[in-house]
Amino acid sequence: MKCLVCGMEINTNNYGVNNKGLLGENDIEHIKYCPFCGVDYKYLKTGGEVYSVCPQTLDKNTLLTLDHAMKLEIFNSEFYMAAAKLAKGANAREAFEALSKIERVHAIVHQKLGGFKELPKLVNIDYSKHKNDKSLMELAQNREIHATAFYEKKSKEINNLVVKEVLIALAVVERDHIQIASKLLTHIL
Ligand SMILES: [Zn+2]
Repeated sequence: MKCLVCGMEINTNNYGVNNKGLLGENDIEHIKYCPFCGVDYKYLKTGGEVYSVCPQTLDKNTLLTLDHAMKLEIFNSEFYMAAAKLAKGANAREAFEALSKIERVHAIVHQKLGGFKELPKLVNIDYSKHKNDKSLMELAQNREIHATAFYEKKSKEINNLVVKEVLIALAVVERDHIQIASKLLTHIL
């Protein structure tokens, strides 16, 4: 089975790799999400064609949006990586580690669609003023609210149907991430 959004092949060895970054955990009988980019199972197909575009055919607005989206995802992926190192409890750490990987895959999806040579390098931000897991998780939740709003707004503005579909799929993933953060904030942290 292949994910049409990120192109990854999903099999019995890898379906659970980022379970802590999914709203409901995948199990072998029910693979509900792509373990790599987090999209809904409706994008997982056997023998399907992975979404792709010819970057030269995209208009300026679409390319700018993909560039912005790629930077936003790297920014969030690096935040999660830093948060995983700062986290004191296993629940927060495991969620942050999985989310960092998922957001990085999103950045790579945008990179491929836009035909960008490399992923951006961002300045390292010091998040150590966030003294506990709750504070880090609240920041995560705010990041995800922002990302969801970004994808929802941009998906309405984009003409290219493939890029539009990818942005819609990722808007749902980021909305799931808001839920993951709020579940942890309410019940665990
Ligand atoms: Zn995927």
